[in-house]
Amino acid sequence: AAAPEPSGLVGRLFGRATAQPEEPRRALDDAMLEELEDMLVQADLGVETALRVTANIAEGRMGRRVSSTELKELLAAEIARIMAPVARPLPIYPKKPQVVLVVGVNGAGKTTTIGKLASQFRAAGKSVVIAAGDTFRAAAVEQLQVWGQRAGVPVMVAPQGSDPASLAYDAMVRAEAEGADLLMIDTAGRLQNRQDLMEELAKIVRVIRKKDPEAPHNTLLVLDATTGQNALSQVETFRKLADISGLVMTKLDGTARGGVLVALADRFGLPIHAIGVGEQIDDLDAFDAEEFARALVG
Ligand code: GDP
Repeated sequence: AAAPEPSGLVGRLFGRATAQPEEPRRALDDAMLEELEDMLVQADLGVETALRVTANIAEGRMGRRVSSTELKELLAAEIARIMAPVARPLPIYPKKPQVVLVVGVNGAGKTTTIGKLASQFRAAGKSVVIAAGDTFRAAAVEQLQVWGQRAGVPVMVAPQGSDPASLAYDAMVRAEAEGADLLMIDTAGRLQNRQDLMEELAKIVRVIRKKDPEAPHNTLLVLDATTGQNALSQVETFRKLADISGLVMTKLDGTARGGVLVALADRFGLPIHAIGVGEQIDDLDAFDAEEFARALVG
């Protein structure tokens, strides 16, 4: 019978498996490392990170003959090492309400992620208030209301086109009055006018600090993992607009295997608080470095 086609990131470097009891081996030489590097770049790790990962694997092992399984283990271990420090759940503050500002480009999955997070906090016995801070997009506000209903969480809205900062302030007042544990504030994601968006975000921060000088306690950037290297430039952009404290990576259920997460972790070291793995309310998982590394390597 024909041996199965090699698969996964590393399998392809070794060619078709044979029926021999011994796995084929290849020397870790320049040619092999170059192929590995190309493969990592194709997998969205980006050139810089691919080079670093390859160099670390080569370190002290040049010329050694390795099997596909050994190389997979080395690669998975190296990726898990990069990812372990960023695999951190959303820090919970003792202060009430904990204010979570949620930013990201339209379509990244902000609304969905807020709904999923609200549902998880509710399930953990926390009271949550959501503020629909993207006051310009009526559809976004409606979507958020639908998610609020699903999660059993009130969603504060304001008239279309009104000042998001004023809504955020009202939401702070309400969350404090109700003794809510958590206030999540959605924000606009139109990058067409960055200056505008920067001022809008800065103003939201300014007014909520009138109620709590330490707020927002978290500023989450929601990124679509299927956008590949684009996610890196979104971090660059949003770091200039807001004080990003952590990431949520969405759409990791699709064909994208999320190589860009390694590039993000390597370049920015921002915590990955959660990953979106589908469109349903329960489709939000904690980020597990080992599991991710194994899945990525295949
Ligand atoms: P927003 O514009 O940033 O608020 O983005 P939305 O929350 O409206 O999400 C945009 C689209 O992405 C919607 O169709 C969501 O159902 C979808 N989406 C969000 N998160 C995920 C995810 O983790 N997996 C998948 N497959 N789809 C997602």
